[in-house]
Amino acid sequence: MGMHLSTSINHKNRAIRELAQVFSWVQISGMSSAEVSRMVLGTMKTLDKCPEWVRAYVRGWTEATRRVLERELVFFYTLPDGRLVSTHRDRPDYYEKVGLGPKEVYELATHSGHYWIRRRCVDGRWEERLVPYFVSPMDGTCEFCKSKHVPLVAFLVSDPNQRVCEKCHKDKRVLTRRFGDAAEKV
Ligand SMILES: [Zn+2]
Repeated sequence: MGMHLSTSINHKNRAIRELAQVFSWVQISGMSSAEVSRMVLGTMKTLDKCPEWVRAYVRGWTEATRRVLERELVFFYTLPDGRLVSTHRDRPDYYEKVGLGPKEVYELATHSGHYWIRRRCVDGRWEERLVPYFVSPMDGTCEFCKSKHVPLVAFLVSDPNQRVCEKCHKDKRVLTRRFGDAAEKV
């Protein structure tokens, strides 16, 4: 005996209300891609007992809404000195405006990814802050085990500038946080 049609529809509507609530906060709160995925997964889990068409409907709605939202993200490359340059022609940090070519910036960059741009007015001037949404891990030396040329996937909670490898991130004695898991201040 399957679920009543009206119950299925109620679940579908409730799930979409829940997700719409999450999505209305993603940009404002500078949520990361991993955080969004976790929230979506949480809602999807509540549909376990529903017929497949309910989950398919909610999945489709989620993918479309997420794609629209992600159009607001700006792509940046991080240079070895920590400076971020964007791929948007109309921004002052566009790589050509800082004197770099596309091949140069690609080869120089230590990592790259999508960021939310948050603006606030300070003393009558607009200030920008970049909040990472999804940023690729960079290769380098792990600050903890000192392994060289390994992907650095996380940072020490005590010092976000100290980046660590996958092995050290999994080591419970080292308090770390994975890139993209929480809004890391840039
Ligand atoms: Zn390590």
